[in-house]
Amino acid sequence: MSNGRILLVEDNEDNFELVQFLLERAGYEVLAAHTGRECLEIARRDLPDLVLMDLSLPEMDGWTAAHELKADPKTAAIPLVAITAHTLPGDRKRALDSGFDEYLSKPINIQAFPQTIADAIQKKTMSEED
Ligand SMILES: [Mg+2]
Repeated sequence: MSNGRILLVEDNEDNFELVQFLLERAGYEVLAAHTGRECLEIARRDLPDLVLMDLSLPEMDGWTAAHELKADPKTAAIPLVAITAHTLPGDRKRALDSGFDEYLSKPINIQAFPQTIADAIQKKTMSEED
């Protein structure tokens, strides 16, 4: 049994494989996208429990894709977590302003990662029960 389906959006293959490994080890099913545009297609079709997304992506960047997901009633409730090397002052705020619910900086804290993901999914479940 899976703990949930996570759409992982990452254009760097090494990063993709590491995060996929961590998610699968924590019991999640991983859906794959490598561009912002692909993210929107798959999110709308498969309605994952969470989207974990890089920000620098080809075709459509992560900020734009997040904005589109939050603007679409079909996908607006899906929690969005940014995973990024953009860690200058102001980057966190810019990500949250684009619609991300949570922001993780690279390199990933491997110890804390599974709990962060579980918390982000849990928050969504709790708000649905209100
Ligand atoms: Mg990238």
